[in-house]
Amino acid sequence: MVSPCLADFLFKFLVIGNAGTGKSCLLHQFIEKKFKDDSNHTIGVEFGSKIINVGGKYVKLQIWDTAGQERFRSVTRSYYRGAAGALLVYDITSRETYNALTNWLTDARMLASQSIVILLCGNKKDLDSDREVTFLEASRFAQENELMFLETSALTGENVEEGFVQCARKILNKIESGELDPERMGSGIQYGDAALRQLRSPRRTQAPSVQECGC
Ligand code: GDP
Ligand code: MG
Repeated sequence: MVSPCLADFLFKFLVIGNAGTGKSCLLHQFIEKKFKDDSNHTIGVEFGSKIINVGGKYVKLQIWDTAGQERFRSVTRSYYRGAAGALLVYDITSRETYNALTNWLTDARMLASQSIVILLCGNKKDLDSDREVTFLEASRFAQENELMFLETSALTGENVEEGFVQCARKILNKIESGELDPERMGSGIQYGDAALRQLRSPRRTQAPSVQECGC
Protein backbone atom coordinates (compact mmCIF):
# COMPACT_ATOMS: atom_id res chain seq x y z
CA MET A 1 0.00 0.00 0.00
CA VAL A 2 1.23 3.49 -0.83
CA SER A 3 1.82 5.66 2.24
CA PRO A 4 -0.76 8.46 2.50
CA CYS A 5 1.93 10.85 3.71
CA LEU A 6 3.54 12.63 0.79
CA ALA A 7 4.97 15.45 2.84
CA ASP A 8 8.55 16.66 2.54
CA PHE A 9 8.56 17.85 6.15
CA LEU A 10 6.55 17.57 9.33
CA PHE A 11 6.41 20.56 11.66
CA LYS A 12 5.05 20.53 15.17
CA PHE A 13 2.98 23.65 15.83
CA LEU A 14 1.35 25.07 18.96
CA VAL A 15 -1.53 27.46 19.46
CA ILE A 16 -1.10 29.48 22.65
CA GLY A 17 -2.74 32.51 24.30
CA ASN A 18 -5.46 33.29 26.85
CA ALA A 19 -8.69 31.30 27.03
CA GLY A 20 -11.47 32.73 24.87
CA THR A 21 -9.22 34.34 22.25
CA GLY A 22 -10.38 31.85 19.59
CA LYS A 23 -7.53 29.34 19.45
CA SER A 24 -9.78 26.29 18.99
CA CYS A 25 -11.82 28.16 16.37
CA LEU A 26 -8.66 29.12 14.46
CA LEU A 27 -7.50 25.51 14.41
CA HIS A 28 -10.95 24.33 13.32
CA GLN A 29 -11.17 27.00 10.58
CA PHE A 30 -7.73 26.04 9.29
CA ILE A 31 -8.44 22.29 9.20
CA GLU A 32 -12.14 22.24 8.27
CA LYS A 33 -12.42 25.58 6.48
CA LYS A 34 -15.46 26.53 8.54
CA PHE A 35 -16.31 28.35 11.74
CA LYS A 36 -16.76 26.15 14.78
CA ASP A 37 -20.05 27.36 16.22
CA ASP A 38 -21.04 26.73 19.82
CA SER A 39 -23.13 23.67 18.94
CA ASN A 40 -20.02 21.57 18.53
CA HIS A 41 -18.27 23.18 21.49
CA THR A 42 -18.10 19.87 23.34
CA ILE A 43 -15.81 18.36 20.72
CA GLY A 44 -12.72 19.86 22.29
CA VAL A 45 -10.21 20.08 19.46
CA GLU A 46 -6.86 19.13 20.90
CA PHE A 47 -4.97 18.18 17.80
CA GLY A 48 -5.24 18.67 14.09
CA SER A 49 -3.04 18.03 11.11
CA LYS A 50 -3.00 19.26 7.56
CA ILE A 51 -0.65 19.15 4.60
CA ILE A 52 0.02 22.51 2.96
CA ASN A 53 2.03 23.47 -0.10
CA VAL A 54 4.67 26.08 0.64
CA GLY A 55 6.57 27.21 -2.44
CA GLY A 56 6.40 23.75 -4.02
CA LYS A 57 7.25 21.83 -0.84
CA TYR A 58 4.64 19.78 0.99
CA VAL A 59 4.64 20.42 4.69
CA LYS A 60 2.54 18.49 7.15
CA LEU A 61 1.61 20.61 10.14
CA GLN A 62 0.82 18.78 13.35
CA ILE A 63 -0.94 21.36 15.44
CA TRP A 64 -1.58 21.16 19.16
CA ASP A 65 -4.25 23.19 20.86
CA THR A 66 -4.06 23.82 24.62
CA ALA A 67 -7.62 22.40 24.87
CA GLY A 68 -8.54 24.29 28.02
CA GLN A 69 -5.26 23.87 29.90
CA GLU A 70 -4.64 27.62 29.63
CA ARG A 71 -7.55 28.28 32.01
CA PHE A 72 -5.57 26.76 34.84
CA ARG A 73 -2.20 28.27 33.84
CA SER A 74 -0.92 24.73 33.58
CA VAL A 75 0.35 24.59 30.02
CA THR A 76 3.17 22.21 30.63
CA ARG A 77 6.76 21.95 29.57
CA SER A 78 5.95 18.75 27.68
CA TYR A 79 3.40 20.65 25.58
CA TYR A 80 6.04 23.13 24.44
CA ARG A 81 8.80 20.62 23.91
CA GLY A 82 10.05 20.33 20.35
CA ALA A 83 7.69 22.81 18.71
CA ALA A 84 8.93 24.34 15.46
CA GLY A 85 6.28 27.04 15.30
CA ALA A 86 3.55 28.69 17.34
CA LEU A 87 0.58 30.94 16.85
CA LEU A 88 0.41 33.33 19.80
CA VAL A 89 -3.20 34.50 19.92
CA TYR A 90 -4.89 37.52 21.51
CA ASP A 91 -8.35 38.96 20.96
CA ILE A 92 -8.37 42.45 19.39
CA THR A 93 -11.50 43.29 21.46
CA SER A 94 -9.81 42.43 24.77
CA ARG A 95 -6.87 44.39 26.09
CA GLU A 96 -6.54 41.87 28.90
CA THR A 97 -5.63 39.14 26.41
CA TYR A 98 -3.13 41.49 24.76
CA ASN A 99 -1.53 42.37 28.12
CA ALA A 100 -1.02 38.66 28.79
CA LEU A 101 1.16 38.23 25.69
CA THR A 102 4.42 38.94 27.52
CA ASN A 103 3.81 36.03 29.90
CA TRP A 104 3.01 33.66 27.05
CA LEU A 105 6.09 34.78 25.20
CA THR A 106 8.33 34.24 28.23
CA ASP A 107 7.02 30.67 28.60
CA ALA A 108 7.38 29.92 24.90
CA ARG A 109 10.95 31.22 24.73
CA MET A 110 11.88 29.33 27.88
CA LEU A 111 10.10 26.02 27.30
CA ALA A 112 10.01 25.59 23.53
CA SER A 113 12.84 25.12 21.04
CA GLN A 114 15.26 28.11 21.01
CA SER A 115 14.59 28.69 17.35
CA ILE A 116 10.78 28.49 17.54
CA VAL A 117 9.09 30.70 14.93
CA ILE A 118 6.18 32.63 16.44
CA LEU A 119 3.37 34.40 14.64
CA LEU A 120 1.42 36.94 16.69
CA CYS A 121 -2.22 36.60 15.80
CA GLY A 122 -4.76 39.36 16.60
CA ASN A 123 -7.97 37.36 16.29
CA LYS A 124 -11.64 38.45 15.96
CA LYS A 125 -10.72 40.97 13.28
CA ASP A 126 -14.38 40.89 12.23
CA LEU A 127 -15.34 42.69 15.49
CA ASP A 128 -13.59 45.91 14.50
CA SER A 129 -16.21 48.16 16.18
CA ASP A 130 -15.36 46.57 19.58
CA ARG A 131 -11.62 46.85 19.07
CA GLU A 132 -9.48 47.61 22.15
CA VAL A 133 -6.05 47.01 20.59
CA THR A 134 -4.91 48.93 17.50
CA PHE A 135 -3.14 47.26 14.60
CA LEU A 136 -0.26 49.70 14.99
CA GLU A 137 0.56 49.00 18.64
CA ALA A 138 0.38 45.25 18.10
CA SER A 139 2.65 45.45 15.07
CA ARG A 140 5.15 47.48 17.12
CA PHE A 141 5.04 44.83 19.85
CA ALA A 142 5.62 42.17 17.22
CA GLN A 143 8.59 44.03 15.79
CA GLU A 144 10.19 44.58 19.20
CA ASN A 145 9.84 40.89 20.01
CA GLU A 146 10.80 39.54 16.58
CA LEU A 147 7.42 38.01 15.88
CA MET A 148 5.53 37.85 12.64
CA PHE A 149 2.12 39.50 12.88
CA LEU A 150 -1.31 39.17 11.32
CA GLU A 151 -4.85 40.05 12.31
CA THR A 152 -7.20 37.13 11.69
CA SER A 153 -10.81 36.10 11.91
CA ALA A 154 -11.68 32.51 12.71
CA LEU A 155 -15.28 33.55 11.94
CA THR A 156 -14.78 34.72 8.35
CA GLY A 157 -11.57 32.75 7.78
CA GLU A 158 -9.62 35.90 6.89
CA ASN A 159 -5.83 35.39 7.16
CA VAL A 160 -6.19 32.03 8.96
CA GLU A 161 -4.56 29.84 6.32
CA GLU A 162 -2.10 32.67 5.61
CA GLY A 163 -0.99 32.67 9.25
CA PHE A 164 -0.06 29.00 9.26
CA VAL A 165 1.51 29.21 5.80
CA GLN A 166 3.63 32.28 6.67
CA CYS A 167 4.90 30.58 9.79
CA ALA A 168 5.74 27.38 7.86
CA ARG A 169 7.47 29.40 5.11
CA LYS A 170 9.71 31.11 7.66
CA ILE A 171 10.69 27.73 9.14
CA LEU A 172 11.45 26.37 5.65
CA ASN A 173 13.58 29.44 4.91
CA LYS A 174 15.53 28.84 8.11
CA ILE A 175 16.11 25.22 7.11
CA GLU A 176 17.27 26.25 3.65
CA SER A 177 19.64 28.91 4.99
CA GLY A 178 21.10 26.40 7.46
CA GLU A 179 19.95 28.41 10.47
CA LEU A 180 17.74 25.50 11.50
CA ASP A 181 18.85 21.89 11.49
CA PRO A 182 15.93 19.43 11.18
CA GLU A 183 18.10 16.65 12.53
CA ARG A 184 18.81 18.38 15.79
CA MET A 185 16.88 16.86 18.69
CA GLY A 186 13.81 18.87 19.66
CA SER A 187 13.75 20.96 16.49
CA GLY A 188 10.07 20.08 16.03
CA ILE A 189 10.86 19.09 12.45
CA GLN A 190 10.93 15.69 10.80
CA TYR A 191 11.41 14.63 7.23
CA GLY A 192 8.28 13.24 5.57
CA ASP A 193 8.18 10.20 3.28
CA ALA A 194 8.68 12.23 0.11
CA ALA A 195 11.92 13.77 1.39
CA LEU A 196 13.14 10.44 2.69
CA ARG A 197 12.64 8.85 -0.73
CA GLN A 198 14.80 11.58 -2.27
CA LEU A 199 17.44 11.30 0.39
CA ARG A 200 17.60 7.56 -0.13
CA SER A 201 17.80 7.72 -3.91
CA PRO A 202 20.79 5.74 -5.32
CA ARG A 203 22.56 8.92 -6.45
CA ARG A 204 23.30 9.67 -2.82
CA THR A 205 25.97 7.55 -1.28
CA GLN A 206 24.88 8.04 2.28
CA ALA A 207 21.41 8.72 3.65
CA PRO A 208 21.35 10.76 6.83
CA SER A 209 19.75 9.13 9.84
CA VAL A 210 16.38 10.80 10.24
CA GLN A 211 13.19 9.85 11.97
CA GLU A 212 10.43 8.26 9.90
CA CYS A 213 7.32 10.25 9.14
CA GLY A 214 4.99 9.97 12.10
CA CYS A 215 1.70 10.01 10.21
P1 GDP B 1 -10.13 29.42 22.98
O1 GDP B 1 -10.53 29.33 24.43
O2 GDP B 1 -8.95 30.34 22.79
O3 GDP B 1 -9.92 28.08 22.35
O4 GDP B 1 -11.34 30.14 22.23
P2 GDP B 1 -12.52 29.48 21.36
O5 GDP B 1 -12.03 29.04 20.05
O6 GDP B 1 -13.24 28.48 22.19
O7 GDP B 1 -13.43 30.77 21.12
C1 GDP B 1 -13.94 31.57 22.19
C2 GDP B 1 -15.17 32.34 21.75
O8 GDP B 1 -14.81 33.30 20.77
C3 GDP B 1 -16.26 31.47 21.12
O9 GDP B 1 -17.51 31.92 21.56
C4 GDP B 1 -16.09 31.71 19.63
O10 GDP B 1 -17.32 31.57 18.95
C5 GDP B 1 -15.58 33.15 19.58
N1 GDP B 1 -14.68 33.41 18.44
C6 GDP B 1 -13.55 32.75 18.12
N2 GDP B 1 -12.94 33.27 17.05
C7 GDP B 1 -13.71 34.33 16.66
C8 GDP B 1 -13.60 35.30 15.60
O11 GDP B 1 -12.67 35.33 14.79
N3 GDP B 1 -14.62 36.23 15.54
C9 GDP B 1 -15.65 36.24 16.42
N4 GDP B 1 -16.59 37.19 16.24
N5 GDP B 1 -15.78 35.36 17.41
C10 GDP B 1 -14.82 34.41 17.54
MG1 MG C 1 -9.88 26.20 23.15
